[in-house]
Formats: sequence, structure tokens, C-alpha cells
Amino acid sequence: MQRVQGQRGRSLIGDRVMIPVRCYTCGRIVSDVWDVYKERTKQEDPGQVLDDLGVKRYCCRRMLLTHAELIDEIAPYE
Ligand SMILES: [Zn+2]
Repeated sequence: MQRVQGQRGRSLIGDRVMIPVRCYTCGRIVSDVWDVYKERTKQEDPGQVLDDLGVKRYCCRRMLLTHAELIDEIAPYE
């Protein structure tokens, strides 16, 4: 089986978000703010960005704060 390697930082499935759709604890949808969060945290404080995006509960904040986009490392197919 040929293993397909993606370029680092580029998703193999068309730049789709692979963060869980909802918060594991309370069920709030967190994937909708992921793209904005990812862009803004390149220059801004993550805590401030989460406040601005209306992510108040710490269960939801941890979903975004602790997410590591490893889809490029684990996806075997393009
Ligand atoms: Zn939550």
C-alpha cells in the first residue's frame, strides 16, 4: 500500500475542519468557530479570541485550546 504524504499544514481532504463538531461535555457546537479561532490566534491572545467568539464555558474553551490538527499525519489517502 502506498502511503500518501500531505504537505505540512495542508489538509488532505480539502482543508476541512477536523475538530470535533460539538463540545464533548455540554454539546455546544464548537467547530463553527474553529477557522476564525485558528486565524486570529496567529496574532491575538487565544483567551481574548474565545471571549470575542462567545465561547464562555471552560468545557468548550478546552475543545479549541487543546485541539491539535493531526489529520495530515494520520490520513492514509488523498
Ligand atoms: Zn462545552
